Amino acid sequence: MRDEVGLCRRCVHAKRIVSAKGSVFWLCRSPLVGLGMLSKYPPLPVSGCPGFSAPAPDPAASGDR
Ligand code: SF4
Repeated sequence: MRDEVGLCRRCVHAKRIVSAKGSVFWLCRSPLVGLGMLSKYPPLPVSGCPGFSAPAPDPAASGDR
């Protein structure tokens, strides 16, 4: 199945916004938006992005305690 969102779905800078009418938007909070390098509401799906940052791995999930 095709992912309609792309990289934003698993980026730490993304925030999923649901409007009062139920429309869904993906807000980009990367510092690159302020520098004019990325759109605040990027066109989807995002397949490549210089600002993408994956969440840090959960140490509890790795078993390294
Ligand atoms: S930095 Fe890129 S991948 Fe991350 S939320 Fe912004 S547009 Fe999406």
